[in-house]
Amino acid sequence: MIGGGYVGLVSAACFAEFGIEVAVVENSPSRLSALREGRIPIYEPGLDKLVESNMQAGRLTFGDDIAAAVKDVEAVFIAVGTPPRNGDGAADMQYVHAAAQQIARALTGYAVIVTKSTVPAGTSRRIAEIIRATRPDAEFDVASNPEFLREGNAIGDFMRPDRVIIGLDKAAPDGGARAEAVMRKVYRPLSLIEAPLLFTSLETSELTKYASNSFLAVKISFINEMASLCEKLGADVHDLAKGMGLDGRIGRKFLHPGPGYGGSCFPKDTLALSRIGQEAGSPCRLVETTVQVNDARKIGMAGRIIAACDGSVQGKKVAILGLTFKPETDDMREAPSIPILHRLAEAGAKLQAFDPVGMEAAKPLLPPTVSYCTDALDAAKDADALVVLTEWNVFRALAPKALVEAMKGKVILDLRNIFDPAAMRAVGLDYQSVGRP
Ligand code: NAD
Repeated sequence: MIGGGYVGLVSAACFAEFGIEVAVVENSPSRLSALREGRIPIYEPGLDKLVESNMQAGRLTFGDDIAAAVKDVEAVFIAVGTPPRNGDGAADMQYVHAAAQQIARALTGYAVIVTKSTVPAGTSRRIAEIIRATRPDAEFDVASNPEFLREGNAIGDFMRPDRVIIGLDKAAPDGGARAEAVMRKVYRPLSLIEAPLLFTSLETSELTKYASNSFLAVKISFINEMASLCEKLGADVHDLAKGMGLDGRIGRKFLHPGPGYGGSCFPKDTLALSRIGQEAGSPCRLVETTVQVNDARKIGMAGRIIAACDGSVQGKKVAILGLTFKPETDDMREAPSIPILHRLAEAGAKLQAFDPVGMEAAKPLLPPTVSYCTDALDAAKDADALVVLTEWNVFRALAPKALVEAMKGKVILDLRNIFDPAAMRAVGLDYQSVGRP
């Protein structure tokens, strides 16, 4: 497994749990030393125990020596980052290409080189070219196997996936049969739960990942726009979402309004798919518009908070509950909190924030003036207004009365709709949420 981040580490630990021997290669010294000492460098529920038990069983090892890791293996998974390239939003392929070169030099016998990172169509073929150019004698096939796990529920998603997509080189002399056999072996434990393995071409597999994430981003942006419309018309977005979602063709998931999607995947994958469409001469206009709608929504939320504070946050204390892009992760990449807090700080707000696990990751990304609190009520103390940005369960449990007593002002902006409007108003709070009358 090349790369021991959110995807590489979870995949490695889960494959090890399947009984496979897995060597993780990680080139960040800090991540590697943490892993070797049995510490998990990211927050992901259940991962510490899974890593520990599989390390103890001798099936899971960590190192930076790719030659040692790749020696005599049947499959090499590439799970390095593919962040947006500066300037144009296309996926930056430098880490994937570098990994391909390193793998090529290290290969000993036949292996399948599997791309788990989210990559544009054509990447697996490019990897094959890089390997052939670096090591003309190497015996290998390439495969694409995009990962669909969600942070915060990553182990469950990996162990019980809705589907596993595997792209093979149909133009290979054997039609991809040898690579298919290896991939079937790797995923055999999933046959017990009858998880569908979908075999397709390399390009289709690569594109399926972008299409899936972009579709979900469109769905979120759609319900966000409906929430805004509900506010204008006095309608309730939750009932609307239920009414829509009970239609099996639509489905109930991803119809929760909020301050805009963030995270390490949707923002970069929608940008990358927009770019892929443009380069292919087949623009994905819905996705391009979704990117714009979402960016505007994140920025608009700061304006909404300012408006709720009588048009100015200058010198006012604003409590922020939640910083990560969603609960149960410490991932701060593209979190809505970043643009929102910067706007509020520019407008003169005194920000006092609390997040159960994301504060360390958040500090370098947020304005230096933000003060970090020990818990939600500490953040609420003497605040003129309070804003919920992430729907952590600990916030759901907050008693309205405790908030009134802690705060100086009465304004609550619940951008995740975690509180009951009637209960909040009953204690005299000036409560606003998203898309609810
Ligand atoms: P990440 O940044 O957490 O992890 C990547 C790791 O790879 C880093 O620890 C980095 O140090 C390491 N690395 C980079 N080059 C290396 C090399 N040559 N040798 C060894 N280690 C190397 O990223 P991530 O969130 O795990 O995402 C990885 C890929 O998976 C991306 O393409 C992403 O789009 C995709 N993906 C992510 C998620 C998610 O929820 N995070 C879900 C599905 C797919």
